[in-house]
Amino acid sequence: MLDRQNKRPNDLSAFWMPFTANRQFKETPRMLVAAKDMHFTAEDGRKIMDGTAGLWCVNAGHCRPKITEAIQKQAAELDYAPAFQMGHPIAFEFANRLAAMAPEGMDHVFFTNSGSESVDTALKIALAYHRVKGDGSRFRLIGRERGYHGVNFGGISVGGIVSNRKMFGTLLTGVDHMPHTHLPGENAFTRGEPEHGGDLADELERIVALHDASTVAAVIVEPVAGSTGVLIPPKGYLKRLRDICDKHGILLIFDEVITGFGRLGAPFAADYFGVVPDIMTTAKGVTNGVIPMGAVFVKKEIHDAFMNGPEHLIEFFHGYTYSGNPIACAAGLATLDTYQEEGLLTRASELADHWADALHSLKGEPHVIDIRNIGLVGAVELESIPGEPTKRAFSAFLKAYERGFLIRTTGDIIALSPPLIISRGQIDELIDNLRDVLRMID
Ligand code: PMP
Repeated sequence: MLDRQNKRPNDLSAFWMPFTANRQFKETPRMLVAAKDMHFTAEDGRKIMDGTAGLWCVNAGHCRPKITEAIQKQAAELDYAPAFQMGHPIAFEFANRLAAMAPEGMDHVFFTNSGSESVDTALKIALAYHRVKGDGSRFRLIGRERGYHGVNFGGISVGGIVSNRKMFGTLLTGVDHMPHTHLPGENAFTRGEPEHGGDLADELERIVALHDASTVAAVIVEPVAGSTGVLIPPKGYLKRLRDICDKHGILLIFDEVITGFGRLGAPFAADYFGVVPDIMTTAKGVTNGVIPMGAVFVKKEIHDAFMNGPEHLIEFFHGYTYSGNPIACAAGLATLDTYQEEGLLTRASELADHWADALHSLKGEPHVIDIRNIGLVGAVELESIPGEPTKRAFSAFLKAYERGFLIRTTGDIIALSPPLIISRGQIDELIDNLRDVLRMID
């Protein structure tokens, strides 16, 4: 049944796997060889329910025929064409489609190949924007503790994860961090947006006052921090950040790599929270995770500031060999068709109550110290075994895999973000399985 590419090779040593305990994995590998809709197939033929949409990306589910066919057709017609001083129609068409669905005023799109590249591109646009406006003293960037903005140097500099930072030298200079917004004491077991902590946005005022606003270029946050454990913004927090940025002429960047394309029940978190940033980074769901691609959305005023420079010059000296790759654009267009035809961009809002009820039914199960949810995202936080801050959740991950469903863990937090095609019955199945797993682990 498996074709050649999907048979396990004799030797697993050459592939240095990302974000993986390689030695441990290669002793007991877990191999996925096929996928369809809500499920992977493991190499032993077992179906594994995808509780995480891959890595928060396969929003429309796996191996959707429309997307597969679009990729095949494009690969046979125009596989690659440079996008430097050359164009190909599908990249313009895809940018138009994206701009049309973006929050009001975000009319321009810069293509990248990943979330990390989108973040670094956004930071560069922000810095260069102030320069082209003659305000080059705005060089500081402000991120947040527990922020994850990918793994490139800009992203790890503004990000707030110690393990991402400690091995890699001095990183970008001129970066500061706001505190994270996770207040387990006050907000544990909140459904949706927490009541407490909106005033943490005022920390931005403090940092701006410390450096003077005239030196600050941009603030970057994930509207909902995903990979550091599903941290949901307290009520009013994002709006307050927006107000402070406006007051001081600072650009606000939303990293929507996870929240973009329907995860919260609206096309973007900016729509969901009613707070529009100046720049928005996306990736993952832009092509349903099928082909690497990212897209940075930019407000008209920012784009126009570059376009008002001297003519015949390259306005923004930045880009990637694969920016706007035709096959990625074809996958993206078919992905948007699928999202729109099946109502997937708002489906999380239809499922949100059922999802919240199911998740919060885990309150009181062994080890559970917090549960958080928004849209079709959830986190179940476990009490750590003293001195072993990742062990419990990871044993849940292993048990879950054995039982046939995929969860994601970060520290002792279990994160869930299933494809948006999940049915109510499948939500119940996922959560019931998780309940059983929680009762099994030590
Ligand atoms: N930003 C955020 C908010 C993310 O969640 C991620 C990936 N999980 C990234 C950036 C990086 O994306 P990539 O892995 O595609 O580089």
